[in-house]
Amino acid sequence: MGKMKEAFMEMEESSWKGKPSDFLKYYVKYYIENEAVPTDILCPKCKRSKLTMYNTDDVKCESCRTAYTLIDINTVKFKN
Ligand SMILES: [Zn+2]
Repeated sequence: MGKMKEAFMEMEESSWKGKPSDFLKYYVKYYIENEAVPTDILCPKCKRSKLTMYNTDDVKCESCRTAYTLIDINTVKFKN
């Protein structure tokens, strides 16, 4: 099971009332900080690799090196 799925299940179990992205920030901070987390999100730009999350504001494609920000469990936006 992937880390993202684990995080999502933790969120459901904890009856989190906030935004999923906020839970992920909390989760990343306390459980998986400084660890590269593979996600199931295909890079929207090159569609060659799935993105790797370093933290919710630092999600990268290992193929084209594009950086994204995570805004939801399966959604990213381009980082400016
Ligand atoms: Zn890419």
